[in-house]
Amino acid sequence: MGNITLEKVQKTFGDVEVIPPLDLEIGDGEFVVFVGPSGCGKSTLLRLIAGLEDVSSGTIMIDGKDATDLGPSQRGLAMVFQSYALYPHMSVRKNIAFPMKMAGMPEDEQQRRIDSAAKALNLTDYLDRKPGQLSGGQRQRVAIGRAIVREPAAFLFDEPLSNLDAALRVGMRLEISELHERLETTMIYVTHDQVEAMTMADKIVVLRAGHIEQVGSPLDLYREPRNKFVAGFIGSPKMNFVEGPEAQKHGAHTVGVRPEHMQVSKTEGIWKGTVMVSEHLGSDTFLHVHDTGLAETMTIRVDGEFGLHHGDTVYMTPEPDKIHRFGQDGLRIS
Ligand code: ADP
Ligand code: MG
Repeated sequence: MGNITLEKVQKTFGDVEVIPPLDLEIGDGEFVVFVGPSGCGKSTLLRLIAGLEDVSSGTIMIDGKDATDLGPSQRGLAMVFQSYALYPHMSVRKNIAFPMKMAGMPEDEQQRRIDSAAKALNLTDYLDRKPGQLSGGQRQRVAIGRAIVREPAAFLFDEPLSNLDAALRVGMRLEISELHERLETTMIYVTHDQVEAMTMADKIVVLRAGHIEQVGSPLDLYREPRNKFVAGFIGSPKMNFVEGPEAQKHGAHTVGVRPEHMQVSKTEGIWKGTVMVSEHLGSDTFLHVHDTGLAETMTIRVDGEFGLHHGDTVYMTPEPDKIHRFGQDGLRIS
């Protein structure tokens, strides 16, 4: 089981309230991602759940029991850090065995869990190596292996892929998602990368300055962002925002249109601008357009081989049913 409930959990460091009182429900088996800009309190929130920090007020329930005053080892959770924190002088096998050895688990049970974790993580052939003889991705898998053998109620990951290069990150992302499918154990995953959040999460928790801005599935957040912050944070490239008369026409202070929700033409359309930069990714092309009189630059996603270049005139027409409207307070108007 891995139900985690936060009730009015609050954290201050000295005079600074890093997490204002916050409620959150995490269901058994869910893959929950905390996402938000650097410094918004993601790690602090995770460390409060792990018991590595004490709450200033509020309650943390794990599987229906009050865990607020329990130490980290008593909560039945396992944390995986960005810096793998492996023992360099120990073999992979011994690194994975370490928490079980500390807990005094019988040798044969230790062996069974090591074999099963190694198999799940493709580490069977590397059990006798030292961490120094492994790639970054393999080291991260050892760190996850050390968490798996504890058979925790939930895994807590704090930016586990940040030290890996881009290609490895994509690979590990899939591995962790697959592991979650297989283990069906609750996972809480912290990242500042909205692409990781969108691709991995059942449920995304968007944080800003310790506040929860929105909780929802990736597509909920993409389709119906509750405010301008979430609208601008989720989705890549970012949503375009337009204010003034063009927004007032739609009964809004600001309208938002995603780059992929704009029709583009060389000859006609509602908004006109000049292509500043054309980024060719092969599958897609991103046009960065200026001189629109609407926003400093607007980004549009077009087909891979769309032939517009620096200095060309472009006309843009937002898809009417894909326009997001926001009030002066930044909240969505629905
Ligand atoms: P994130 O993980 O989202 O980047 P953190 O949770 O690490 O953010 O930090 C949130 C805020 O709390 C930051 O302003 C940070 O400086 C502050 N903070 C974190 N840990 C401490 C601490 N031990 N003492 C004082 N301030 C801290
Ligand atoms: Mg952090």
